[in-house]
This record gives sequence, structure tokens and C-alpha cells, in this order.
Amino acid sequence: MSEDKFTSDVVIGLEIHVELNTKTKLFCSCPREVVDGEEPNSRCCPVCLGLPGSKPVLNKKAVEYALKLCIALKCDISPKLIFSRKSYFYPDMAKNYQITQYEIPLGNGGELKLSSGKRVKLKRAHMEEDPAALVHIGDMQKSPSVLVDYNRSGNPLVEVVTDPDITSADEARDFMKQLITILEYLEIFDINKCIIKADANISVKESGYVRAEIKNITGFKEIERALNYEIERQKHDVKEGRKFIVETRGWDSEKGITFPMRAKESEEDYGYIIDPDLVVTEIGKDWIKDMEKEMPELADAKLKKFLDEHGIEETTANVLAKDKKLADIYEAVIKKVDHSLASKWIRRELPRVLHYNKKSLEESGIKAEHMIALLKLIQDGKITEKVGQRLIEKLCVMVFDVASYVKKEGLEVVADVEKIEKFCEEAIKEAPKAIEEYKAGKEKALNFVVGLVMKKSRGKARPGVVMEVLKKLLG
Ligand code: ZN
Ligand code: MN
Repeated sequence: MSEDKFTSDVVIGLEIHVELNTKTKLFCSCPREVVDGEEPNSRCCPVCLGLPGSKPVLNKKAVEYALKLCIALKCDISPKLIFSRKSYFYPDMAKNYQITQYEIPLGNGGELKLSSGKRVKLKRAHMEEDPAALVHIGDMQKSPSVLVDYNRSGNPLVEVVTDPDITSADEARDFMKQLITILEYLEIFDINKCIIKADANISVKESGYVRAEIKNITGFKEIERALNYEIERQKHDVKEGRKFIVETRGWDSEKGITFPMRAKESEEDYGYIIDPDLVVTEIGKDWIKDMEKEMPELADAKLKKFLDEHGIEETTANVLAKDKKLADIYEAVIKKVDHSLASKWIRRELPRVLHYNKKSLEESGIKAEHMIALLKLIQDGKITEKVGQRLIEKLCVMVFDVASYVKKEGLEVVADVEKIEKFCEEAIKEAPKAIEEYKAGKEKALNFVVGLVMKKSRGKARPGVVMEVLKKLLG
């Protein structure tokens, strides 16, 4: 795109590398996933070490995952899968070339919808192998030496490239967030175990849109920080009268700054050639149809259903639809529990206890069956919401059979009026000041007394009933 076509003050294009959640690497059978406590260079073979004479064999699962992503992003899918060699010299690539796609990407065009409704156009989505990891001892810029770990080398990536359609750091963050939602729905990516990295091209009007490419930004919080920094830096440098060149910059997350790495190389510098070791893979219509059949309902469709069919309040529907795990558990729970009770608890209480215990849903072990048991007790009036909150807090520490625990611990609602009256009488005696205020016409003062009764009943009395009893006792 020529510079005079830009209309916004800030112009951003993203190249996002997504690691696919396959069992093995892209061209060999080495395991892809990091093993706890693994040694550097322990998950490699002649292929991913790039030893002479070794031959790559394409991982079919990785292609299927990439196809699903292309379908979700509405790309035109190429009928042939062709890999090329991108030649460069760098210690992270022992072959001195990266196997990637250049001439014909797997997916052409496409789009991704932001939460604002704006559609960001995509240039392409292609497959490639991840290079090795360079390990700097201490400070990246000052480290006297660099180590190479090939465990990551050969991991399957899809690179999603956008048009320069993005106009703020905030939009870039949202783009990445929406992409992650799609990846999680497709179950081709695990946020805790897969890498997602962005390179961002960014320029500002003040410089005449001379762009810098910021490399290797990880995660959506980082991308917003890096881009906000870079926008200010570019504007500041224009004011200072510095000369602008097209350059590649690094992002130092610890210091929160970008720094110059090198003058930007152009595509021609890479001397792409088609990789003769890999045969052309035909992507027939039937294969695409099979993938389409396996496509899950995506977040957009879920949101529409939650709003139109379930009648859930909009913010809640959005939170549930954007998080596949919450959406799944919600949809399982509403088979037995009222929509509004289920949505309220799965949006608020469940994330609250997970966050407090710093656990993911899987780590907590909480499943739909636990939520159903808990919410049915509330729905049937057998326990109060207060007791329910205590139960979900306990569940998050260690799961148990909810119904029998409630029985065993005697957590059912106190329906016994005599018992409630006894608690009320005690509370009235303990709170003379509040009673005085209430009698002087301050209705709200009674809430304090209700709180006392709730405490005495260990949350098992219904606040409404307590209020009634108190009013009766106070005449
Ligand atoms: Zn290998
Ligand atoms: Mn790439």
C-alpha cells in the first residue's frame, strides 16, 4: 500500500506466529511440547537439527490444524501446499534456511472481526517451522555469548499476516485476543503450552509513515505496551528532528522499551527457493469439506445464541462466549439448571474462585457435574447463595461430591422458625445501637442485625425470612 493511502495517524500491520498444539514437530517425529525439567537439545533428531542428508516428512495433523484456522479466518485455501526455503544465516537455524511458505501461502486473504465489530483484512496465513531458541546469558543486549537450544526447532507454526488496517495499540491487543479466542475454540492451540508471538510493523503520520518492525512480542498485554511505547518514541524522534529509516527493532519487556537491531532486510534478501525435499501436497475439496465438518461452533455464533435464544444479559453473554471453557461448562450446566442462575454463577463465581486460587479450570478439577449439583441445590431452595459461595470456594481447592457433603455437614437452609427466632433474639440483644437507630426510623440499620443472624446460622438462614422475623420481634 502506498503511503498517501493512509488516513489514520498510526498505521499498524501484524505478523502473528502461532504454535500449533500438535504432538510432534512439523517435519519429524520429535515431541513438540516442552517436557518439565527437560535438558536443552534433548528433543531433537537429525531433521530438526538440520544435519546433512536428513529429509523432512510433513506432519498431516499440523496441516489439518492450519486448514481449520484458514477456514475460521475465511481465507481462500490454496489447492496445493508448497514449501520454500527462506535462506539466512543465523545460529537459530542450522540448515541456514527456514522451511516456510512464500510463493503460495496455504490461506490467502481473509479477515478477523475485532470486538468493536471492525473487520481487519488479512493478507495471508502460511505454515512454517519454528527456529531454535537463542539463549542469552543475562542481559540480551550486553550478553557476551549466546547459547542455542534446538528443542523448539521444527515446531509447527502458522503465521497470520494482516493488512496495515490497525490504527492503535489497543486494536492490536484486541486483534491478538480475538485470534486467541478462535484458536482456543478450534482446539489447535493451548495458551499455557504454545507460543504466540507478534512482529508489528508500525509507523506514524508525522514521519511520513516510515515504518519500524518490532520483533518477537509475546502475548496481548505485551503488544499493547510495546506499541504504545513505539508510537511515542516515533513521534518524539520526529520532533527531535532525527532521521527515520526502515528498521527492525527489538522489544525489551523488562525495561519496557524498543531498541534498534538492524536495518530492515527486504524479501529479496532471503533468496527463496521451492524446497525440493518436500513433495507438493494436494489439498482436495474433500479434505477441506472434512475439516469444515469438524469445525466447532465459534464464539460469534455462541454469542448470538446466548443473546437471542437464552436471553442472557449482554455483558455476561460476551464473557461466556469469549472463553471456550466457560462457554462449554455453561452449555452443559443449562441442561439441568435455569439459564440465568447458571450464567450468573459461571460468569462471576467460578472465575472469582479460580482467580483467587490462581488455578485454571482444569487445574481446579471443577466440572459441569459439580456446578450442576451446586446450582440445583440453590435453585431448589435447599441451600442459600451464601452457602453456595462457600461450597464453590471449597471445590476450587479440592473437588468433592456436593450433595453428600451438604448433607453430611448439615448445610441445608435453616427452615426451623424457632431456631431463627432464637438467633434473632440473641442478635437484638447484641446490637442495641442498631436497634435504637432502626426504631428511630432508620430502616437500613436493620441490615446489620440481619448480618449478625446470618453469621450465627453460618449463612444457612434466608435473609428475607430473617428480616421478617426481626420486624415481627421488634413490633
Ligand atoms: Zn526432530
Ligand atoms: Mn515467519
